[in-house]
Amino acid sequence: MKIDTLVRDNIKKMSSYSSARDDYKNGYDENLIYLDANESPFENGINRYPNNKHNDLKTVVSKIKNIEKDQVVFGNGTDEILDLIVRVFCNPNEDKIITLPPTYGMYDVIAKTNSVENIEIPLKNNFSIDKNKILSLSSVKTKVLFLCSPNNPTGNSFDINDLNDLIKDFKGIVVVDEAYIDFSSQKSLISLIDKHDNLIITQTMSKAYGMAGIRLGMGFSNKNIISYINKIKTPYNVNTLTENKVLKELSKTDELKNNISLILNQRKVLISSLEKLDFVQKTYKSDANFLLVKVDNADLRYNQLLKKGIVVRNRSNQYLCQNCLRITIGTGEENKIFIKTLNEL
Ligand SMILES: *Cc1c(COP(=O)(O)O)cnc(C)c1O
Repeated sequence: MKIDTLVRDNIKKMSSYSSARDDYKNGYDENLIYLDANESPFENGINRYPNNKHNDLKTVVSKIKNIEKDQVVFGNGTDEILDLIVRVFCNPNEDKIITLPPTYGMYDVIAKTNSVENIEIPLKNNFSIDKNKILSLSSVKTKVLFLCSPNNPTGNSFDINDLNDLIKDFKGIVVVDEAYIDFSSQKSLISLIDKHDNLIITQTMSKAYGMAGIRLGMGFSNKNIISYINKIKTPYNVNTLTENKVLKELSKTDELKNNISLILNQRKVLISSLEKLDFVQKTYKSDANFLLVKVDNADLRYNQLLKKGIVVRNRSNQYLCQNCLRITIGTGEENKIFIKTLNEL
């Protein structure tokens, strides 16, 4: 596929912002006097602009993910990367994206912000992908297909053959949003970025890695696509505090593994407790750190829980999610209180 023909003309033609430290390429050396970027000269640890190539972070992340440094882009959360993808490929009022509701709400918000039509092709009743419908509704205008796997709010991973077929057959960019991949029994598709020129994988520090507050999202793709995203992103979109904190946290690999396995255990405990409640009609299978649960009356149960000090997400207004609550897996202690509270309702 000719990816360059999918890129908006204005973006192909432009050159990216050139910052002071792009002209001076030798990296930051504290023995030099820097009078090039209008920063404050008074050292406090954050008076300098961040390295806009995020070299240290790229080295560490690309090693963990077993890919090359030029196959990585960072964003102020995944949300920024998703927005950048739409802006690289979709001409406002002309091109379209495809999403599969019920799914992550930001895709639609990003489409609307960019004046790009969002063609919604609902999942089937069992939350699987309607592959044939997607392919039949795609055209030269449907530039980007968003696949969220494991999917939020349904919790399931999509069938690996469906994902593979769509990456292969869809005539545009395929984004696989793997925000919850660390909780999944299914493997990441990151190893496929070398094999397909249209595939972008997104992951985040916000969920399993426990760093939602620092806002770091990651995009992985071939270096052609990554270079287009880099071209339009603001140069300092990831700040020094975030970069330093992530580097520190990423070294705690045992803690990460341990936390994930605690969540997976609690997921099991929560499922079996929920299934014993008579107002719970169905607990959907989950590959994520949350459960989608169908109850008798979601509004009622949501408000009852709120009165007892427990906040869940009411997803009732989402397609295929009538009377469904989305419940994040908390600590063992939190889940005990949650179950006790449910039993008292
Ligand atoms: C939580 C979530 C994200 C993460 O977004 P960040 O901006 O990185 O916090 C991305 N995609 C989905 C589907 C999510 O649920």
